Amino acid sequence: MQCPVDKEPLIALEWDELEVDYCTECGGLWFDAGELELLLDAPDLARLLSGESASVDPSAAKRLCPLCGARMTQHCPAGAPEVIYDTCPKGHGVWLDKGELAAIARASGSDEACGRVAAFLADLFGA
Ligand SMILES: [Zn+2]
Ligand SMILES: [Zn+2]
Repeated sequence: MQCPVDKEPLIALEWDELEVDYCTECGGLWFDAGELELLLDAPDLARLLSGESASVDPSAAKRLCPLCGARMTQHCPAGAPEVIYDTCPKGHGVWLDKGELAAIARASGSDEACGRVAAFLADLFGA
């Protein structure tokens, strides 16, 4: 798979029951459908991510799904307005730029989700 931002090959990383794809160039992460929810273990994540706080410029949506090549849709969740994440219109998964995973975990308001994300990032990147 290619990074939707810079076309570098993504590296598959395994953590717990998840397989996540990571770009060493830009630090972005690809989660297959359902994996982000598993990582965050947050029942209200869908609500958090489905709320849109602002209209996102459609012309800015130039990233392609690493699985099918479809142009991804950008979203700005109401609970984390600093985050603009991309999803495949066919439901393949979610692309998060560097730092957006931690921001979403914080926005979820769940200490457990923050703890899991912190452990995930520490294990994968030694952060
Ligand atoms: Zn990249
Ligand atoms: Zn796709």
